[in-house]
Amino acid sequence: MRRKLAAGNWKMNGLSAQLDQLDALTAAHPDPAVDLMICPPATLVGAAAAQVGNKPLMIGGQDCHPAASGAHTGDVSAEMLVDAGAKAVILGHSERREDHGESDELIRQKARAAHEAGLITVICVGESLEQREASNTLDIIGGQLAASIPDNSTGANLVVAYEPIWAIGTGKIPTLDQIGEVHDFIRARLERRFGAGVGRSTRLLYGGSVKPGNAAEIFAVSNVDGALVGGASLKAADFTGIIAALE
Ligand code: PEP
Repeated sequence: MRRKLAAGNWKMNGLSAQLDQLDALTAAHPDPAVDLMICPPATLVGAAAAQVGNKPLMIGGQDCHPAASGAHTGDVSAEMLVDAGAKAVILGHSERREDHGESDELIRQKARAAHEAGLITVICVGESLEQREASNTLDIIGGQLAASIPDNSTGANLVVAYEPIWAIGTGKIPTLDQIGEVHDFIRARLERRFGAGVGRSTRLLYGGSVKPGNAAEIFAVSNVDGALVGGASLKAADFTGIIAALE
């Protein structure tokens, strides 16, 4: 049985005062029936992890470098995230693929390093509007899955997030049938590559304009094990509404 996961991506948002939202979240969910994760900007990972302590809320990074250390100005390694108290890292978000030209190959290297360091990876895949309109969605997702997920993935260390690029921060979401089609496809591809054990135990998240008002219908879709949430994870009150729909 896959445990549901509500993951929040704060992106490049949040100064120290934003950490109050973590207290509000853990107070609202002292014993959650699902896994909870917040990925603040790198500057807040250590403080967030210290503030959360042993409470049931994982803190994650939003990126890591494939190397453990070295001459990579401005980058953060998986070991550094672990050292700061992170349990997870988002990799291959479309904003990093676009803003930083990240390739599937680079994402796979990062994910391999993150798994070796003991982190859960949330690997993002998703098509552009142009690709969807050209009926290329499954080809694009299939290619991203094959090339960006490393061989050292397990049901425990891998989470895949399906995030249609055109749904991120836009208020638009695919139809429930479209979400189900892609999630079923991802599940089948994971089972084919890794076998039923890993394939069936890997959690698949939907991401893109998830809000308290649409979360329940999205979570009812086949093979949707939770959500990766951007904007609505910034306020504990909004994120709580999404968590409640998952529990
Ligand atoms: C995201 O950034 O991963 C995301 C899904 O953003 P939003 O929920 O704001 O669409």
